[in-house]
Amino acid sequence: MKIICIGRNYANHAAELNNPIPEEPVIFLKPDSSLLRGNADFFYPEITSDLHYECELVYRVSKEGKFVTRNFATTYLDAVGLGIDFTARDLQQKAKDKGLPWTLAKGFHGSAPVSEFIPLDEWKNPLRLTFEFYVNGERRQSGDSANMIFGIAELVEFITKFMVLKKGDLLFTGTPEGVGAVKQGDHLTAFLEGREMLNFRVK
Ligand code: ZN
Repeated sequence: MKIICIGRNYANHAAELNNPIPEEPVIFLKPDSSLLRGNADFFYPEITSDLHYECELVYRVSKEGKFVTRNFATTYLDAVGLGIDFTARDLQQKAKDKGLPWTLAKGFHGSAPVSEFIPLDEWKNPLRLTFEFYVNGERRQSGDSANMIFGIAELVEFITKFMVLKKGDLLFTGTPEGVGAVKQGDHLTAFLEGREMLNFRVK
């Protein structure tokens, strides 16, 4: 499986990192070894001294799709959850300065914790969801998919011009404003429409 991520998909987040609003989706990948499931402990990686959280809505792909048009996009998705796009901001900044890929800054061990996935048909409007992320009980991020620059249907259409989606692939849809650093000992929790989805510690 692959983990496809969208960068700069909320205008206020692009602005907080001094990035322009993109004209088309910014896409990157994480390896499957980034996945962390079941609210397992996350171990602070040695490769960074500036680890940032980015809480994101994550959609799961239900079947193979290539050249999918936006009208049919949601038929290729079956469930949604929350994930953290952990980012070594120091490595990412170095890569950005040199015009090099972000892969290592975003793709290290355990850099993609994900919650359980809840079937789309269990939500009143699975394309319009709100979520909140807390560090040690203090709210740091509030997201509303209505504020995404590129909606999920547009993203599926765009991605499948380049890559085939396969059953079980995950789509991280970008983070709202409020990103920041975590440290060892932090307790991270996240809620999707008020329902607790993530609850784990940084060790
Ligand atoms: Zn992200």
